[in-house]
Amino acid sequence: MAGSLGAVTVRARFAPSPTGFLHVGSANTALKNWLFARSTGGTFVLRIEDTDVDRSRPELVDEILRTLEWLGLDWDEGPYRQSERADRYRDAVEQLRTDGWLYDSEGALRFRVPDEGVTAWDDAIRGHVEFENANLEDFVVQRSNGTAVFLLANAVDDIDMGITHAIRGEDLVNTVPKVLLIMRALGAPGDLTYAHLPLLVNERRKKLSKRDGVVAVEDYRARGYLPEALANYLSLLGWGPPDGVEVRPMKEIVELFRLDDVTKASAFFDTKKLASFNGQYLRALSTEAWVEAAQPWLSGPEAPWPREAYDPAVVERLAPEVQERVNVLAEVPQWLGWAFLDEPDIDPAAWASVEKFEASPQVLDAAIEAYADCPWEWPVLQERLGGAVDALELKMRKAQAPVRVAVMGRSVGPPLWQSLEVLGRERTLARLRAARARL
Ligand code: GLU
Repeated sequence: MAGSLGAVTVRARFAPSPTGFLHVGSANTALKNWLFARSTGGTFVLRIEDTDVDRSRPELVDEILRTLEWLGLDWDEGPYRQSERADRYRDAVEQLRTDGWLYDSEGALRFRVPDEGVTAWDDAIRGHVEFENANLEDFVVQRSNGTAVFLLANAVDDIDMGITHAIRGEDLVNTVPKVLLIMRALGAPGDLTYAHLPLLVNERRKKLSKRDGVVAVEDYRARGYLPEALANYLSLLGWGPPDGVEVRPMKEIVELFRLDDVTKASAFFDTKKLASFNGQYLRALSTEAWVEAAQPWLSGPEAPWPREAYDPAVVERLAPEVQERVNVLAEVPQWLGWAFLDEPDIDPAAWASVEKFEASPQVLDAAIEAYADCPWEWPVLQERLGGAVDALELKMRKAQAPVRVAVMGRSVGPPLWQSLEVLGRERTLARLRAARARL
């Protein structure tokens, strides 16, 4: 069935309106169209729906294209821009007017919806849907300034571009009857297949919104998500592979994807699950590739320390440990910042627990003494503090904490002994003394 579904050669399209950054919901729509086109050997068309000049922002078009490329969603045709097809829409309006479908009302041209009957379609995801024509109002197709509205441009383009499947968000279901009426009035050879994807919701099952945190793909990119992880996660919204294996290469997802398997129940956009996917993809990188991916947060614009402070030797030593523990690259500075800053950034909650632990002064004193002149190698550092802690009749797990907070400023971080080793005797002792003085 390569290239076709039955007799139909698939032509799917992603048709964003450039009114904002690419939202994860739109990225999901783009991805599902891309998967459908790739899995059927069809064509993936990109069309920019920028007829609304008041809301469209041309600079966002490039942004959307870049984001699609970053996600690996390559298109075969386009981007077509509706703003360049005004003549074609005027011709279509002329045809509709000549055929008696339109009338003038308050300066705009309206489409006359039949009074009786229903407008119906078989949605590939939602099944049979129908609207009573009596409940549809006559609607504007051309504004008084001569520009086409979305409904008309959308109908004309799907006909002209030979689109066979319109896969898009559920929020557009209400526009279908009007678009179908226009298409049929224009003499379209047949209806295209609509497939309305489920809405993305938050954990309270409410429509995902800005208040739920990060919703722009660009922001995920900026926080250090890998495109492969995000695309893999998005593929699972409203769809799942038959074998239940969720984390897998896009090539396999393309082989397994079936539009018929997409469900209509709303899909929970689980940011924790997405972060955990990203962690899995980050851990799968070679350490070199991981260090390279983390560079913007280590020595680039995202690093909260001066560029000169960055020491690749520290990263080389600790990268495998941090790579094991980090889900999102934007967390990397918290894990390694203590090594590059003159003084650690002390987290107040971590410091409060040091103050609360009654043995903190003895532990810090013991560490300062033990580290004054021992060989500076991590097994020795571990053993020396171990001895001192035994003498104080404390448990190592608890006794480590004041030392860790003194040198790192936080209670979580890379393994302590290796960290002390890279920090060096002088800086370690200075930090231990500063913490002791603060108590
Ligand atoms: N331009 C519409 C939107 O961004 C999508 C229209 C369609 O996919 O048919 O909401």
